[in-house]
Amino acid sequence: MKQSITALMLSAWASPALAAFHIVLDPGHGGNDKGAVYNSIREADLVLTVAQKLQTLLGKDNEFVVTMTREKDRSISLPERVKMAEEANADLYVSLHANAALDQRAKGVEFFFQNNMPADEDALYLANQENQAVQNARDIHAISGGDELSKKGDIAAIVEDLKRQNRMFSSLRLTKALTTIWGNDENAMQATIKQAPFYVISKTSMPAVLIEIGFISNPREAKRLQQKDYQKDLAQKIYNALVSYKEKMDNSSAKNLN
Ligand SMILES: [Zn+2]
Repeated sequence: MKQSITALMLSAWASPALAAFHIVLDPGHGGNDKGAVYNSIREADLVLTVAQKLQTLLGKDNEFVVTMTREKDRSISLPERVKMAEEANADLYVSLHANAALDQRAKGVEFFFQNNMPADEDALYLANQENQAVQNARDIHAISGGDELSKKGDIAAIVEDLKRQNRMFSSLRLTKALTTIWGNDENAMQATIKQAPFYVISKTSMPAVLIEIGFISNPREAKRLQQKDYQKDLAQKIYNALVSYKEKMDNSSAKNLN
């Protein structure tokens, strides 16, 4: 009984198989906020370049509709980014960042999703860095949000819970599609799935993933990340993962409808 209700609810939330899949693509930082700066690379510029390449690939595919949170070097707060995704009623939120660490040996691509499990210390530290823009803002109370579940009835609470589970499951599914694509390329940088309370992936109501495309603090990776071909390859890999994710979502919503 419980299962069939779940299936029904999941199918109600899944987007119809033929409708274009709306992705909000979020190049992190921008404007006054340059993000991490290492080896003459500014994170804000790098992630915008990769996001634009990904936008081009998605733009050629009529199964996708893309909204960029920023198309140029401009300041945009984290709450504004979330608001854009909510107003667009997007199916998926993908945020692009570049990593930096004091240890120059730190390397690799990292895919983050939001879970209810406690995050490890490094991931929490990174999330804290990326959330700085919000923490500096006066409206800090917006982060804690406030749980309204207690005010709602049991059914509403169950629906909320299922929605949250569905969202987490879908986000994890995309991170898995990403690691599969990376795993198929032996020249690719190592890829890891992690979870941490980044503001943008915690506050969006749709499935959301934050991708740290590499460590600009690692001299070797910094060099690769500056190469146009490598940037193109990164965008292509993310695009391939998005196609694979969408196919899986379409298949599972078709199953739920039957
Ligand atoms: Zn960042």
